[in-house]
Amino acid sequence: MKPRRISKPVRIGDVTVGGGAPIVVQSMTKTNTADVRATVEQIKELKGCGCEIVRVAVPDNEAAEAIRAIKKKVSIPLIADIHFDHRLALAALESGCDGLRLNPGNISQRDKVKEIANAAKERNVPIRVGVNAGSLPKPKNPKLSVSERMVEAALAQIKMLEELDFELIKVSVKAFDVPTTIEAYRSIAQKIPYPLHIGVTESGPPRTGIIRSTAGISTLLYEGIGDTIRVSLSAHPREEVIAAYEILKSLNLRQHGPILVSCPSCGRAEVDIVKLAAEVEKELLKVDKPIKVAVMGCIVNGPGEAKDADIGIACGKGRAVLFKKGKKVKTIKEKDFIKVLMGEVGRF
Ligand code: SF4
Repeated sequence: MKPRRISKPVRIGDVTVGGGAPIVVQSMTKTNTADVRATVEQIKELKGCGCEIVRVAVPDNEAAEAIRAIKKKVSIPLIADIHFDHRLALAALESGCDGLRLNPGNISQRDKVKEIANAAKERNVPIRVGVNAGSLPKPKNPKLSVSERMVEAALAQIKMLEELDFELIKVSVKAFDVPTTIEAYRSIAQKIPYPLHIGVTESGPPRTGIIRSTAGISTLLYEGIGDTIRVSLSAHPREEVIAAYEILKSLNLRQHGPILVSCPSCGRAEVDIVKLAAEVEKELLKVDKPIKVAVMGCIVNGPGEAKDADIGIACGKGRAVLFKKGKKVKTIKEKDFIKVLMGEVGRF
């Protein structure tokens, strides 16, 4: 794994993004932002599963105004997502947002960007230059590939902000197509000093969306690229946060809650491992300590295959061996599998 790319840190509220800080997990609410009660409830739920920054859509003045009330009731930084109308960015800043996301595809006029940059600078609020392959400005050179066009669009707005003496910048260049996304981030990572928000956009419902997102995000993280991640899914945003942590945990970049090791099962298994692993996974959602738990299908290979797990069970016919760090501790009956295993997890 390559060392992390050094980036110039920015602060979104009390969260540092870039400059070697832990990779930040963020998500976006799916409520009507103007519905303060529903939005606050969703933000609190997201914070409960580890979300560190949340973005809200600001399609109108009502939403921009609602940020003021939402901010009073939540404790994680709030980013206002702005498209088309620069006055909404000004209103969101006025309401106390901690960060802005601008899309160079629909707000790029210098006088408008200048107004936003001045107001953001006054409040020390960073701006993400959030390029999306689906809403690119007209290219200067029509022969450019989509990834090149995304980079061109980002660089143009970054240059404009720098000329306006604004450097509290974060950047994203997202596409639905994974290779396009990877190429765009690889390219821009070499050209600018700012932190990168990485993700694969509109990646779909969980089954396929998590795979697309993981393919893109993990490749970049492995190359040392990325300071904050968002997994975009057509699902409740808690699924985005859970998936983001699983990506970071799988690359040993963050610790967050338990890790479940479970074998795929095979002809040797004498219990329903698929069902058992699903039950344990559900129970582990209630646990927030970093612990590696294994559910293995047989005594022959189980403890050996999961020897770095903190606690696990290796099942046989009607019974299982409870093991800790690959060493057998005791035998338990099938009816007690979950109870004993979770009891041990609780005591760990
Ligand atoms: S642990 Fe046992 S049952 Fe599970 S895949 Fe390995 S050999 Fe098969």
